[in-house]
Amino acid sequence: MSQANIILNPQSRIPLLKSQLSAPPGPEPQLPISKSHTHPSNSKNEASTSPGSSRSPNDGSVYFIGNATTLIEWHNIRLLTDPNFLHAGDHVHLGPGVTAERLHNPIVDMDGLPAIDSILLSHYHEDHFDRAVEDSLNRQFPIITTPHAKKCLSTKTDPFTSVYAVDFFQNVTLALPATTGDKGNKKTPKIKVTGMPGKHVPPGPLSIANDLLKAVPPTNGWLLELGYENPSSGTEDKFEPGYRVYISGDTLFVDELKQIPEWLRGEKIDLMLVHLGGTTIPGPKAPLVMVTMDGRQGVQLMRLVEPDVTIPIHFDDYSVFLSGLEDFRKEVEAAGLGGKVVYLDRGEEYRFAVREGEA
Ligand SMILES: [Zn+2]
Repeated sequence: MSQANIILNPQSRIPLLKSQLSAPPGPEPQLPISKSHTHPSNSKNEASTSPGSSRSPNDGSVYFIGNATTLIEWHNIRLLTDPNFLHAGDHVHLGPGVTAERLHNPIVDMDGLPAIDSILLSHYHEDHFDRAVEDSLNRQFPIITTPHAKKCLSTKTDPFTSVYAVDFFQNVTLALPATTGDKGNKKTPKIKVTGMPGKHVPPGPLSIANDLLKAVPPTNGWLLELGYENPSSGTEDKFEPGYRVYISGDTLFVDELKQIPEWLRGEKIDLMLVHLGGTTIPGPKAPLVMVTMDGRQGVQLMRLVEPDVTIPIHFDDYSVFLSGLEDFRKEVEAAGLGGKVVYLDRGEEYRFAVREGEA
């Protein structure tokens, strides 16, 4: 089992980009936050939360950049998911004979990001990790990903050297340095990242699409548990989760996903980021095989894992996405789940409060 523990240093983060290795340190870029959303049941929703206004240290946020690229922040720990910073009109190669055009710009470019701690890469596909990103990243920058992607990234001529492979139900933790001199009972903020099952290819015999499907890499979903290491906790690992974020990854709604609620044993998911789009390859002109969830499957997944709040991502950025946000919205409304979904535009964030001292 991979059980790596990454100790972070927010005062001196590893530069994300090669170009930042030699650049003199300048002011840290600020994200352009156009709107802050809070829990749908909060009657003061949106109007009261001015973008970028001060937050309590226990507030976390998810900022939507575009496609499956988000920035998740809590206690100054910052994770960047599936970095894809191509612009509208650029193309990605998704396998033999499969290309797709980007239709929208990300809201920021990579050099406009604040310093971050780690990348979470769900799978090695260009709409999640494009070639320009790959070329420009600092090779020492920490990346948490699948065993398959680790193999790809660490065996290149110019290899990545801090890649953590996490298989289904394995985990890596990211922790702030423990504060000493406080009678040993000071709680240390920590994010535990566990790989969740996902399947990017449809089950069953699909000989006709065999060649196509060979191009589709294995994918992880993620469970992020935001919580505290508490030396006086009664639990075995001294970890007290206070908020759970589940990210689906580029999976279809398959039986394997039923392992997720089983594994959670009744613990609830607070927030789900669901990858939609109904990605269909080889493309819109020859729609043959769907490899990510469409709106209908997205709602099936909501029913299976019952998150308190769901945010759709990965729904309209590429020409191979045949199921847009309206599809999902319609299914959500038909299922009576409208009060459980927060829709983020690029440049908007969702803020949440992490519970303390649960255990
Ligand atoms: Zn994708």
